[in-house]
Amino acid sequence: MVSGDRKSQWLISIIGIVSALLLLSACGGTSAGNPAGSPTASAGAIAVVAAENFYGDIVKQIGGNHVNVVSILSDPNIDPHEYQSNYQTAQNVSKAQLVIENGGGYDDWMDKVLASVPISNRVLIKAFDTAKVHLEDNEHVWYSIDNAQTIAQAITDNLKTLQPASAADFDNNLKQFSQGLQPVLQKVSDIKTKYANAPVALTETIFLYQTAAMNLKVLTPLELEKAVAEGNDPPANAIITAENQIKQKQVKVLIYNGQTSTPVTQKLLKDAQALNIPTVTVTETMPQGKTYQSWMLDQLTALEKALGQ
Ligand SMILES: [Zn+2]
Repeated sequence: MVSGDRKSQWLISIIGIVSALLLLSACGGTSAGNPAGSPTASAGAIAVVAAENFYGDIVKQIGGNHVNVVSILSDPNIDPHEYQSNYQTAQNVSKAQLVIENGGGYDDWMDKVLASVPISNRVLIKAFDTAKVHLEDNEHVWYSIDNAQTIAQAITDNLKTLQPASAADFDNNLKQFSQGLQPVLQKVSDIKTKYANAPVALTETIFLYQTAAMNLKVLTPLELEKAVAEGNDPPANAIITAENQIKQKQVKVLIYNGQTSTPVTQKLLKDAQALNIPTVTVTETMPQGKTYQSWMLDQLTALEKALGQ
């Protein structure tokens, strides 16, 4: 049901890249006489492929009109943990000068695609390897706001290497990006001040990067959250414990990963709703119409409201 949409997105993306390439070759013929550093003397947009749309958004914010970004995973109905790549992905990757993936086992499909279309001068950023904050068995590093800052810096450094003439723009855009993170960091700090040690339930490991930063006490057994992330059946005793925590109203809020749901997590959600325990939905990828910052801020604002109920 979503494949038609996705196909047209692919087509638009490919047309975008092809037109950029045509433009690039056209410019090559006419801009030779332009003085270095003038806007029209720019070497054209850098072709970027991002495995996930939140990285694509960060590249766009920093690259501005110097980049042409295709994001592969952006459909909120697709569980990224279960994703398999297709022919169009390889087509896009074959034209990319810069590829950004999460790594850490999250998107192994991209490594396969990269191996199938080898290009010697393509730059690859693995966000997981760049990130400084790592939780055990938890590849969702972009959920740490501190990591987002580190990853944005790495993106900036690589864009500057690929297009030195635009270095000042990239530096300015990085500054803007960092300023945009400040309200998110402020919200994390506000929630920590007001609700540190509040007991919460969590259906998947993704949000641990934020509950840790806010000192919230996650009661749900980690084995359940990990099994959900990995697409395995959680141990029976972990399910019973998590269900009892809801039934006995031991948690103030249920934080629910809506993009990686299973019958087990759907039951926890239903039980919480039936008992009027506030629930907050979080997602793996960035919803349409948002930026990395507004996505994170909106989820945190919903959590703050839920904790206050
Ligand atoms: Zn996940």
